[in-house]
Amino acid sequence: MAVPQTQDRHCRAPRRAPERTCVGCGKRDAAPNLLRIVLGPEGHVAFDLANHAMGRGAHVHPAPQCMDSAARKGLSKAFHTRVVCEPIALRDMLAGAVERRLKGLLGSAIQSGNAVLGRQAVDDELGKNTIETVILACDASDAPGPALKRAIADGRAVAWGSKGQLGAALGRSEVGVVGIRSPSLGRAIADMCRIADGVRSCSEVR
Ligand SMILES: [Zn+2]
Repeated sequence: MAVPQTQDRHCRAPRRAPERTCVGCGKRDAAPNLLRIVLGPEGHVAFDLANHAMGRGAHVHPAPQCMDSAARKGLSKAFHTRVVCEPIALRDMLAGAVERRLKGLLGSAIQSGNAVLGRQAVDDELGKNTIETVILACDASDAPGPALKRAIADGRAVAWGSKGQLGAALGRSEVGVVGIRSPSLGRAIADMCRIADGVRSCSEVR
């Protein structure tokens, strides 16, 4: 006999991630798929990428059309006040916030010994399975080795910024490739790179 549906749901329903509504497209989605925006005391908005900021928050997909719609009317509606923010300004604000958060995360990776710099070192450690995520500068020109090629094919590599930007975030001059050993730092960094890629593609860096 079939188990009654209510009982089945009660016993086995997986815990669902909390949902939020995008102020751009109006659709509900799992909170990790949306970015949090907070309203400051002076009526300015700011991205809260670490999800730590106090205050009232609104959520938006990191997609150009959702961000533009949020800037035009969604944020004003969500915060019940007139939020003056041009769509292009909101995208610039996100790009800046992502860059700051990435610099913080990459700095933590260096300080905690979780960053592996340079194509050869990254390829060697990928071969030993000690690297979770690889970040490639958009203007990195070295041909990837076999292990790095596999990581790219497996979706474990993300692209961000220029060699100069990646180097600056790591306290070096130029870095084309960096591997991250820590799974949690690697995931957080990859998430930020993907958001940055949605706002500004690599083609704008080259
Ligand atoms: Zn949306």
